[in-house]
Amino acid sequence: MEISIQKAGSLKDLPDESELAFGTLFTDHMFNMDYDLDNGWHNPRIEPYGPITIDPSTMVLHYGQSIFEGLKAFKTPEGEIQLFRPEQNFTRFNQSAHRMCIPAFDEEFALRALKELLKIEKRWVPSAPGTSLYIRPTIIAMDPFLGVRASYTYRFFIILSPVGAYYKEGFNPVKIWVTEKYVRAVPGGVGEVKTAGNYAASLYAGEEAHHKGYTQVLWLDGVERKYVEEVGSMNIFFVIDDEIITPALSGSILSGITRDSVIEMAEKWGHPVTQRRISIDEVVEAHKAGKLQECFGSGTAAVISPVGQIKYKDKTLAIGDGKVGSWARKFFDAITDIQYGRTQDTEGWVH
Ligand code: PMP
Repeated sequence: MEISIQKAGSLKDLPDESELAFGTLFTDHMFNMDYDLDNGWHNPRIEPYGPITIDPSTMVLHYGQSIFEGLKAFKTPEGEIQLFRPEQNFTRFNQSAHRMCIPAFDEEFALRALKELLKIEKRWVPSAPGTSLYIRPTIIAMDPFLGVRASYTYRFFIILSPVGAYYKEGFNPVKIWVTEKYVRAVPGGVGEVKTAGNYAASLYAGEEAHHKGYTQVLWLDGVERKYVEEVGSMNIFFVIDDEIITPALSGSILSGITRDSVIEMAEKWGHPVTQRRISIDEVVEAHKAGKLQECFGSGTAAVISPVGQIKYKDKTLAIGDGKVGSWARKFFDAITDIQYGRTQDTEGWVH
């Protein structure tokens, strides 16, 4: 398919890189593509960034049939622009599409479209340390219809947003709170895909965590409230007695690309990650025995987010004397060095 290009008449001023936040500014152009039953995915086009006018009855507004992805473009010291494992994002995007009854798209084509968009928007990739251009592919159900069924029409779009360094105040451990009352996902549900409703469903517990003075929620499984699943919108790792552990993908955990990168690196370094069920009681016991060495989250936004404190019931588990653990540091450095092109990509992860 040919991608048509319509350039914006006037271009925005670039932001001050030292003041970039997350997800507040958008570039000059976006990618769009439509789906209907007669034409399949069609009319791929790069156009000026701008509002989408939709009917108030549009299905996505009512029943949340919507999926998204999140990845980043990075600028290397040589001024080149790199993507980190983007094909993994488009594969996961199609998995999300499948689960949400959204028609599959051609992954190679979508990646080509993203690269075309990035060529036009390359001036928007910031170069200050830790900054990047966040990429948000999205698909929404477009039928103007109030019956509950899968839509017959869809819009696929990609928007771009320059973002600041996640760790402006340094790479510091955060405090997390274990909710016993609320769950993010259940077996047989949609927790393993990136659909809008998962994030809406997580807000209430997130606000409760904030009110209590914690940064993120630690989610337990939806059946027994016993096994650790994720932290906020990140995957989670523990280091107990020199064993690196992450919850096995159970069907209610999102298969993070950062999670997979950590697992692959650890394997390469000869210290494989164990993927298994890990109960919150095991974490508490390990802490009591002085064997809980580290805990950290993994995800595109922060890459690695060290956890310094876990609050569970009336217990407060302090981890690593408020310092960043050596594994957290090692994974953070190794992954960001590849992303920013400061080291050679021996994994074939960079485009
Ligand atoms: N879990 C959830 C619920 C998420 O939203 C994300 C962010 N996509 C992750 C984990 C981490 O995934 P990734 O490493 O691919 O960003």
